[in-house]
Amino acid sequence: MPRPIYALVHPQALRHNLNRLRQAAPDARVWAVVKADAYGHGIERVFGALAGADGFALLEIAEAQRLRALGWRGPILLLEGAFELRDLEACSRLDLWHVVHNEAQIDMLAAHKTHVPQRVFLKINSGMNRLGFAPAQARAAWTRLNALPQVDEISLMTHFSDADGPLGIADQAARFETATADLPGERCLSNSAAMLRHHLHQAQSAQPLPASDWVRAGIALYGSAPDFGLNTPAHWDLRPAMSLRAQIIAVQDLQAGDTVGYGSRFVAAGPMRIGIVACGYADGYMRASPSGTPVLVDGQRSGTVGRVSMDMLAVDLSALPRAGLGSEVTLWGQASSGALLPIDEVAAAGQTIAYELMCALARRVPVQVDEDAGD
Ligand SMILES: *Cc1c(COP(=O)(O)O)cnc(C)c1O
Repeated sequence: MPRPIYALVHPQALRHNLNRLRQAAPDARVWAVVKADAYGHGIERVFGALAGADGFALLEIAEAQRLRALGWRGPILLLEGAFELRDLEACSRLDLWHVVHNEAQIDMLAAHKTHVPQRVFLKINSGMNRLGFAPAQARAAWTRLNALPQVDEISLMTHFSDADGPLGIADQAARFETATADLPGERCLSNSAAMLRHHLHQAQSAQPLPASDWVRAGIALYGSAPDFGLNTPAHWDLRPAMSLRAQIIAVQDLQAGDTVGYGSRFVAAGPMRIGIVACGYADGYMRASPSGTPVLVDGQRSGTVGRVSMDMLAVDLSALPRAGLGSEVTLWGQASSGALLPIDEVAAAGQTIAYELMCALARRVPVQVDEDAGD
């Protein structure tokens, strides 16, 4: 028998979440962001459910190639653009659209030998200060691109740093607007948080968003609330696209003063029962998570006990007398019973975010696709 741990990808949840995001920005075309192997879910596993998107956005040529191998003929966007000239050859070969965020990438384009011009997304740095041309340089960059025979249509793009928080997007949106006001081309602005928090209620907003022809949906597709802490996935009507489940492989009865795990960091205050779960940090679970990090045991809430080790962690069974050897433990997502444990809650307990947990799912964890739920 294989070690009792597996992840489950839920295509129906992906479909539901994609529809949900479409409702948030009904006039925009939606990029399904599938970088980092679809946020750890696996491009091949999510492809069918997300094929209703208008395009796929990612970073790596190899991932783009996998999408083409799956039969995707629609748009694919490289979010960081080309890193070297060879990447532009791959763009020509695989018909990829790409972001242009600096002068070096324009130089590369100018040196690229192609008869078929390429669709590019000119990225403006509106305040994130990661990638993009300064607003004052936007027009010059556009003019340079527009003069190149290698370049087809030019779209305009920016990325918000605070769509999920109190600063919001108004300042960045205004900077983008000013920088691009007299430039033609499609606009591509929002991530999940901007779509849910700012598109959805645009009508009531004092500062309406600039029109966005394309939006870039990432984390919310996978069922996490981008603004967790303010809102839950349930609030946004998002469903978990990944569940991580393992089993209890040992049970220990403790007396007052007994300790659990490395460093004896947990000390039992009185008699208690714990279960040892076949999941540790080598599976992608957070070592930093404290005792009390939520889990579901046979679909019922409990918490972790003591330090997480490489292959195991402990959970409290004191209030769950029927739980024991072989009981299902859901580390995040959906239990077999249907009970839910949002990945955001687990991540928050470990001082991180759902993005990191999803991407950290270890290769040794087998992944199944939830076919029962229909695909
Ligand atoms: C990852 C990424 C997104 C998606 O962001 P989410 O917060 O996951 O929705 C959008 N745009 C760019 C440029 C990205 O790199």
